[in-house]
Amino acid sequence: MQEKMKQRAKELLADGTVNRVMGWKKGEFGYDTTPAVFRSAEEIDKYFVCDDFTNSNLSKLLVKESKKDGVILAFLKPCDTYSFNQLLKEHRIDREKVYIIGIPGGPKLDAEIIKSKGITGITGVKNVNYTLVIDTIYGEEKMPFYEAVSVKCKSCKSKKHVIYDELIGDDGDILESDRFDEVEKLENMTSRERFDFWQRELSKCIRCNACKNVCPACTCEKCVFDNPKSGIENKAVSDSFEEKLFHIIRAFHVAGRCTDCGECSRVCPQNIPLHLLNRKFIKDINSLYGEYQAGADLDTKNPLTDYSTDDCEPSIVHERGVE
Ligand code: SF4
Ligand code: SF4
Ligand code: SF4
Repeated sequence: MQEKMKQRAKELLADGTVNRVMGWKKGEFGYDTTPAVFRSAEEIDKYFVCDDFTNSNLSKLLVKESKKDGVILAFLKPCDTYSFNQLLKEHRIDREKVYIIGIPGGPKLDAEIIKSKGITGITGVKNVNYTLVIDTIYGEEKMPFYEAVSVKCKSCKSKKHVIYDELIGDDGDILESDRFDEVEKLENMTSRERFDFWQRELSKCIRCNACKNVCPACTCEKCVFDNPKSGIENKAVSDSFEEKLFHIIRAFHVAGRCTDCGECSRVCPQNIPLHLLNRKFIKDINSLYGEYQAGADLDTKNPLTDYSTDDCEPSIVHERGVE
């Protein structure tokens, strides 16, 4: 597929449909494939990569790119197209300035999962018939491909592209996902157990902001957390209240707009399962306002910014009861 993508990108550059291409290139290590913009066929031939590690969702980067001159080609996986659609709905991207080629999704690999198995000093990873052959400075290691699959790919909600100009490969379907199973386990805990769970997880946060910076729903020109007058501007937390403040405020800010793209959990260097917090909001929105998938289309209104007489009342908090 990589060769087809490169070929098509070069054709679209050559015929003037686009003046640059957004895809991925190798990072410092073989496994940290990273977003990149290419302006010539030579650059594409030399650096363009689409491999098992091309996890990054390019949609958020198109907010800035679509403000520049000319049209940019972007390769989007199915999950990325939901983010792109949501950003279009919020008028954050100029659609005319982006040419989208939908490409098949994962499963993609997460190098952090490989490292969490105690494999360090990694210099390269090869997929040999779904066994990962991992070169390290200490020698060769092996592990099954599936064990290193990204959390977001393990509970993928859709292989269908919700927006594109053309596709490479076949389009897929919306899937029966088990993505709310872990949320249900949390719901079945007592409130004390749940509090302890989140206390344990959120206390690991170092406020690196990677989750906020990568999140396609976090595109505010001025973020509350960048306000120097807030007292909580970009700093490590000083107590357990501040620990939760950042995450709870952010979860409320993206509620109804979070497409469950999984990027926040993927980039968290502390492996905090942020997706469980966002999925709880998605699950609650589904049950309180009717099924809703952010980014699935351009027309359906976000239940939290729309009003109907069937909407639940604030008293729902008490009616549901909290143990
Ligand atoms: S909160 Fe996480 S899952 Fe939701 S849109 Fe942002 S990065 Fe994606
Ligand atoms: S945390 Fe809130 S204010 Fe900051 S970028 Fe995200 S949505 Fe905007
Ligand atoms: S990415 Fe992880 S460690 Fe960094 S601010 Fe977000 S939750 Fe905290």
